Amino acid sequence: MNLIPFCSDKDDAREYFHIPFNLGGCTFATNGSVTLRVKLDPKYLPFKGTSEFSRNELPTKLLDFFKNIENFDFKVLPRLAKLNTKECAGCDGVGLKIKEDCEECEGEGDLIFSNSYNQYEVECQSCLGKGKKKIEAPCITCHVCDGDKQVIDHENNFHRLPEGDVSAVILHSLNKLAGFRYAHKEGLMYVFKFNGGYGLFMGINGE
Ligand SMILES: [Zn+2]
Ligand SMILES: [Zn+2]
Repeated sequence: MNLIPFCSDKDDAREYFHIPFNLGGCTFATNGSVTLRVKLDPKYLPFKGTSEFSRNELPTKLLDFFKNIENFDFKVLPRLAKLNTKECAGCDGVGLKIKEDCEECEGEGDLIFSNSYNQYEVECQSCLGKGKKKIEAPCITCHVCDGDKQVIDHENNFHRLPEGDVSAVILHSLNKLAGFRYAHKEGLMYVFKFNGGYGLFMGINGE
């Protein structure tokens, strides 16, 4: 299976989470809130931390979380509601690219003039400090929403499980894994299994 979507993205400072890694005889992928463990895939490298914590405590913690994970009483997920969406802020719900970076200030909203003595920051007069300018005849699909006009509302999407609230966005993505079953572990932590492996994710609020 493709584990890359379960890794953290490039702006996550924990670079050791950017790609899957091998640890304790298994392969892992994590973004910090959802972690998957599958059969060892030798194409990935052994886990290598880059900080005091990630070199020492993290690998032990991770292996600990997965200890005896096979023994949980896994349940089928209750039916999930559709995810809440909100108007795409990238295109104000038009579905097309309606703004582009102002050419004069390159999207900054201000211009800086300096000499060896002083530096001045001046509001860009072409875009009045907005950094963007309107496209007169929009015709390119908005890249934020892919033309859908709506985007998933990450702040306003939770699913109430008997054990507490969890992100509905996370549940929707995990529920696509064949054979997905979950169990509450403790506190905010949930474990799950699917055809091919096990995993864990964090809830939002405990009961
Ligand atoms: Zn400007
Ligand atoms: Zn859009």
